[in-house]
Amino acid sequence: MMSNASLLILPGDGIGPEVMAEVRKIIDWYGAKRNLQFDVSEDLVGGVAYDKHGTPLHDDTMAKALEVDAVLLGAVGGPKYDALDFSVKPERGLLRLRKEMDLFANLRPAQCFDALADFSSLKKDVVAGLDIMIVRELTSGIYFGEPRGIFEEGNERVGINTQRYTESEIDRVARSAFELARRRSNKVCSMEKANVMESGILWREVVQKVHDEDYPDVELSHMYADAGAMQLCRWPKQFDVIVTDNLFGDLLSDAAAMLTGSLGMLPSASLGAPMANGRPKALYEPVHGSAPDIAGQGKANPIACILSFAMALRYSFDQGDEAARLEAAIEAVLADGARTADLMGPEDGTPMSTSEMGDAIVAALDASL
Ligand code: NAD
Repeated sequence: MMSNASLLILPGDGIGPEVMAEVRKIIDWYGAKRNLQFDVSEDLVGGVAYDKHGTPLHDDTMAKALEVDAVLLGAVGGPKYDALDFSVKPERGLLRLRKEMDLFANLRPAQCFDALADFSSLKKDVVAGLDIMIVRELTSGIYFGEPRGIFEEGNERVGINTQRYTESEIDRVARSAFELARRRSNKVCSMEKANVMESGILWREVVQKVHDEDYPDVELSHMYADAGAMQLCRWPKQFDVIVTDNLFGDLLSDAAAMLTGSLGMLPSASLGAPMANGRPKALYEPVHGSAPDIAGQGKANPIACILSFAMALRYSFDQGDEAARLEAAIEAVLADGARTADLMGPEDGTPMSTSEMGDAIVAALDASL
């Protein structure tokens, strides 16, 4: 029995509501069969919020997001909203959530289910059983540093962005990575470019200091980010937790994600500072977007969103065993041959619908009891 586990669900646009309906089945299952009761509320974000309120995130929804233990978001955006002013585009709703919740640690797992190893562009033995976690700093670095802009200089223009990190910004994301590693294989690799960037030198020093002072039990290594990219393709299973800055994390997490196959399989979490009850501020969401090309057709793969809920069980609600049960149920369903269209070739027969995949996962959860 958990106390006060509050969850705000924001299905959003396109396939968001379709995949979230399957997460609802899983939440109901945990309530009925494992006595995990969530206080669930639901609200609007993205284009649907704009349609109703003229803004992609109403202030009341923002306030709710700051109160709950975890936010679970589907996806935002779609062609209907492409012509809107930048300030009210659906994506601004998501950016506002990330900013006001101060979610500085972005967790992107790259996990390869055995049944899908053939889907990777790498050899099967390189990716089968892969389970790594990239922790990307999300609220600072070159995407935010000043000065920035395009300026006149002599008789030409110059484009400027500034990589800037304070010690405290590095310190807090390093702690997130070490804490995570302790729940996994106790190994962190920190990636930067200390060979050519001063911010990289500081990054390396601070990560090492946090390690030596508070996490000496965790195995720590440092790697230049370009070498890290190469190693991710050569032998990704050498890594457990990778911690890196905003820019390198953006690139490395996308590259690592594709080791595992379909976009429909990739969850994510963005975590902030601990709240008064000790739980971190947290937003969980699939990596994919609103997929307007398949929205409303029952074709979407709900697994990325369901795996995002598994991350919430593990990182917000301290239910690691139940998260593992859910991941095992997904593994079992895939091993049984269950496939939505994104996990099949054109000659592979009839795909499952979104809700059939959700039902199959619920049945596998039943079988796990
Ligand atoms: P997308 O992720 O929506 O789709 C890319 C391709 O992957 C499409 O062919 C789609 O059908 C497929 N796909 C995505 N998720 C799938 C799933 N669960 N099951 C099966 N197939 C899936 O990216 P896009 O097409 O570049 O963007 C569409 C809209 O989504 C845009 O408005 C974009 O701004 C928005 N977007 C939102 C987010 C977010 O909410 N976090 C992220 C990316 C893009």
